[in-house]
Amino acid sequence: MDQARINTIRAIYKQHFKEEPASIVVAPGRINLIGEHTDYSEGFVLPVAIDRDVAILFSPRQDGFVAVYSVDFDEFYQTQLSHFEKQKTSWIDYLQGIIWALSDDGYPLKGWQGVVSGNIPIGAGLSSSAALEIAIGKTFILSSNISIDPTNLALIALKAERDWIGLNVGIMDQLISADAKTNHAMLLDCKTLNYEFVPIPENVSFIIMDTTTRRELTHSAYNTRHKEIQEVTRLLNVNSLREASQSDLDAMQTVIPEILYKRAKHVISENSRVLQFVHAMRNHDLLSMGKLINESHASLRDDYEVSSDALNLIVDLANNQSCCFGARLMGAGFGGCALALVSQGEELGFIQEVHSAYQDEAGIAPCLFIVKSATGVHTHNLKKNN
Ligand code: ADP
Ligand code: MG
Repeated sequence: MDQARINTIRAIYKQHFKEEPASIVVAPGRINLIGEHTDYSEGFVLPVAIDRDVAILFSPRQDGFVAVYSVDFDEFYQTQLSHFEKQKTSWIDYLQGIIWALSDDGYPLKGWQGVVSGNIPIGAGLSSSAALEIAIGKTFILSSNISIDPTNLALIALKAERDWIGLNVGIMDQLISADAKTNHAMLLDCKTLNYEFVPIPENVSFIIMDTTTRRELTHSAYNTRHKEIQEVTRLLNVNSLREASQSDLDAMQTVIPEILYKRAKHVISENSRVLQFVHAMRNHDLLSMGKLINESHASLRDDYEVSSDALNLIVDLANNQSCCFGARLMGAGFGGCALALVSQGEELGFIQEVHSAYQDEAGIAPCLFIVKSATGVHTHNLKKNN
């Protein structure tokens, strides 16, 4: 995180709390190279943490209160840790969710006061919510002097998002934010929660292509897909789709409603693509990586049906560029961002071309930017630098 941004947030902290913050916690957002909508059926995913984050500058408090100012929402919230009314207002809900999840797991919490500020586009598929959860969780770990390993921190954040916020997400976003490694993707097995790091080949850049469209009903559509997967899993008589093969699915094709067949087909084929992609990464085979990314998009568009006209357009425009290895929608879908893999050194020309072609055809300006890999949640002391 650059010093100018730290200084800006620090000045805001001083304005609110009339003292210097003790520490800063920085939790990254993420891209997912491949493995979309596979995490909640115990499949494989391949996220990379990015150089966009949610940061909290804070100092511990001894009076059992948490007091937080959100720069991005220009809103202040203060509560006792032991008692609060559930609030359905965006970022406060996440703060309460983490307090609830930690307390429910028996961690003795102490308070803190802080300023939260992020630069991950919200609701764009880059997982600003998980970065916020992990940043808040880590701030509690430090202020309360408790020890929680990255996997358990991710599980607490997941519990907050599932049981407090009410969104049936998988664990990928929280885990990559908690334990990412720079220059590596995380091959995560969502069944065992085991993960290994796969080096990112040189010569490839990751470009986020934000369509600047957002679909309001993303959350309910996401939960609908989740229910469809539960239903087809039950019909196939397996514990999760991870246990089913394409031939298992084909054998049941006549008794499974067509829509559920397509949903399962996406998940089963996507899991296989993740493993092929990792193989291609290890062989520095950028062309195969690109081909798999394109197949992933087609499957999300045609079988999982979570794409949109804007996403399909920007993916096609990206693939028209010869420096593009492949592109696909990323995140929950229905709007938001796509990811393109582009030959290193050609990023700026690519961004210009796709930007103007999309603007011409869609009539709105997209937002394209390069992301670099980053490390998982980290912290450093601020007071000693004064
Ligand atoms: P995403 O795909 O970005 O995770 P979500 O809808 O899941 O989108 O989460 C977005 C929510 O997370 C926001 O509405 C807000 O409540 C919270 N959030 C994200 N970034 C910030 C931030 N910088 N400051 C405060 N809250 C944030
Ligand atoms: Mg989210």
